[in-house]
Amino acid sequence: MSEMQAVTGVVNLSAGDPALAGEIRELGGAELLECIQCAKCAAACPMVLAGFSFFNKKVIHAILLGLREELLDDSSIWACQSCNRCTEVCPREVNPFEVVQAMRRVAIREFALPTLSVEGLKSLYDTGHAVYLAGAGNTRAKVGLPEKPPSTVASKKALQELQTIIRNSALADLGIIPMGETGVSETCEV
Ligand code: SF4
Ligand code: SF4
Repeated sequence: MSEMQAVTGVVNLSAGDPALAGEIRELGGAELLECIQCAKCAAACPMVLAGFSFFNKKVIHAILLGLREELLDDSSIWACQSCNRCTEVCPREVNPFEVVQAMRRVAIREFALPTLSVEGLKSLYDTGHAVYLAGAGNTRAKVGLPEKPPSTVASKKALQELQTIIRNSALADLGIIPMGETGVSETCEV
C-alpha cells in the first residue's frame, strides 16, 4: 500500500497492525485514544507547510489504523521540529508531539531511522549537541561571545556525565550510536 493510499485512499483495515496503538501508548503517547482528529495540531505544525506526508494528526490517524509499515517507510516522523505547538493547541490534551516521539521509538527499535539521525546521535555523544557548529568559534568571538558555548562543549566533566548516561541508555544497547571508548571529542562538524 502506498503512502497516499494509506492516508487518502482505500485502506484495508484488516491488514493493519492492531498492536501498534498499544505500543505507542506505552512508549509515551498515553493519550493517543483521546484524539478526535480535529486537526488543530495540523494547523499549527510546520511539517504541514514543508509538505511532509505524515504530520502529527496523520501520524495519529495512521497509528490508529495500524499502518506500521507505512509509517516506518516514510521519513516524516524525523522531520518533527519539537516546537510543541501541537501540544499547546490540542483541545484533548493528546500531546501529539509525544505521539510522534513514541513513533520514533518504535522506528528505532526496528532500526528504521535515517542516516542523519545517527549523525545527530554521534554529535550528541561527541559534543553534547545534536547539531554543533564546531567551526563557529571565530564568528562567535566577533560578536562578543565566548568561542565555545557554555554547555557540554566547554565542560569536560559535563560531557563525560552525558556520555555515561548515553552509554547506559536503550539507544546504546541497540548499538546505533557510534561511540568511542573514552569519547571526549569535539570533532563533529556541520
Ligand atoms: S491530537 Fe489533538 S489537536 Fe490533533 S487532531 Fe487529535 S485532538 Fe485534534
Ligand atoms: S512538535 Fe513536531 S508535530 Fe508538533 S507542531 Fe511541532 S513539528 Fe509539528
